[in-house]
Amino acid sequence: MDFDDSPEEAAFRGQARAWLDANAPKHLEGELRQSTFGMFALKSIDPILASKAWQRKKFDAGWACLHWPRSYGGRDATPIQRVIWQQEEGPYAALSGLFSIGHNMCGPTLMAWANDAQKQARLPALAAGEEIWCQLFSEPAGGSDLAGLRTRAEKDGQAWRINGQKIWTSRAHYSDFGLLLARSDPTVAKHKGLTMFFLDMRTPGVEIRPIKQANGGQTFNEVFFTDVQIPDSQRLGEVGQGWQVSMTTLMNERMSMGAKMSIGFAELFAFCRQLEIGGRPALEDRAVRSRLASFAVRASGLKCTAMRAVSAISQGRNPGPENSIGKLVGATAMQELAMYALDLQGEAGIVDDPALAPLAARFQTMLLRTPATRVEGGTDEILRNIVAERVLGLPADIRVDKNVPFNAIPTRVAVE
Ligand SMILES: Cc1cc2nc3c(=O)[nH]c(=O)nc-3n(C[C@H](O)[C@H](O)[C@H](O)COP(=O)(O)OP(=O)(O)OC[C@H]3O[C@@H](n4cnc5c(N)ncnc54)[C@H](O)[C@@H]3O)c2cc1C
Repeated sequence: MDFDDSPEEAAFRGQARAWLDANAPKHLEGELRQSTFGMFALKSIDPILASKAWQRKKFDAGWACLHWPRSYGGRDATPIQRVIWQQEEGPYAALSGLFSIGHNMCGPTLMAWANDAQKQARLPALAAGEEIWCQLFSEPAGGSDLAGLRTRAEKDGQAWRINGQKIWTSRAHYSDFGLLLARSDPTVAKHKGLTMFFLDMRTPGVEIRPIKQANGGQTFNEVFFTDVQIPDSQRLGEVGQGWQVSMTTLMNERMSMGAKMSIGFAELFAFCRQLEIGGRPALEDRAVRSRLASFAVRASGLKCTAMRAVSAISQGRNPGPENSIGKLVGATAMQELAMYALDLQGEAGIVDDPALAPLAARFQTMLLRTPATRVEGGTDEILRNIVAERVLGLPADIRVDKNVPFNAIPTRVAVE
């Protein structure tokens, strides 16, 4: 694998760098550099306004949603150009976090399944940062087993009436639109009775209740639907085709998650450079060097695995299970690395106030975030199942509810 830029790639990098040099909000750089490991550390300005302003600026200059077609506000960029842009955008990429679900998952789903009028109405607005989108899939009874979801969609004239509950909905509390998967027919097998919609999150009957997280953040929510009306024109795909539509969203989710996961090696290394153990630099300690080497090996393995996926896409092939492997290995390495960084700090590792101990607080934030990283976008066990079935060729999970009508699947165990 050759990591050097070709002449065309170098020219593209130069163009990106020059535009960023002239246009990036440099006054926010210091704060944005602290925005790692799931914590957005912008305090001097409203993060939503700052993110929308940066997205608009990129859109106007042709640097928004690089991988999208130009007709929808993108740049028709190659996967390699997208990687180059991500490398150059650096800390300012944190300002795109609010739009990540819209740009990486909902947008591609609309492109594949919406009609032309819907695409023209929504996609350029999404690319320009005028709209924030969320993904309303998971429910208390449907997470890993997404097809087990229970939110009902019933046809009501030219509209659909929605009743039920979603959970874990990231960013719903400031989203304008959401992609909603609901059960339109409970009398057929569970994967066959689902239909996909998109809806305005301000529709009457939508109630959003934020969930407070262990790391102090508040990024996801419960969302309740009570007799919510969605026009039939906001259906994506045919009635009963929701499972296939959701696969477009989920494939794009894994591609965007596994591909660029950082395990925090640069932060750990920077921390060890300034640490002393027994009056000597930590970097001279053989045990520290050995652990650092082991994290470095995993970080570079992840980088190569991500590049294999990019290289497959750039050659017109579908990526294999690289992103599942990347997310599985990356999330566990991240958790282990955060625990090691806190161990190295001894009792100072319990300080979680960034004003008192900026580095300790960063690794604390990271440690408290990693259990969520191991669950979102597919849990460790589900990713292992994928690797077992698709890479190792082991037998698939036993599915006792296969071909059973959804409303005939037992929902509770009888107690004598
Ligand atoms: C930070 C975060 C953000 C999220 N954002 C969103 C969002 O925006 N929109 C959205 O719709 N969802 C979102 N989710 C939900 C996420 O997709 C689910 O949490 C995930 O799919 C797991 O589902 P669950 O929580 O219902 O766990 P369950 O599916 O109930 O799993 C419980 C445990 O059982 C294990 N398990 C389940 N099935 C199997 C199996 N077949 N084999 C072996 N083990 C199994 C799991 O690995 C897990 O350990 C988010 C989650 C997190 C943590």
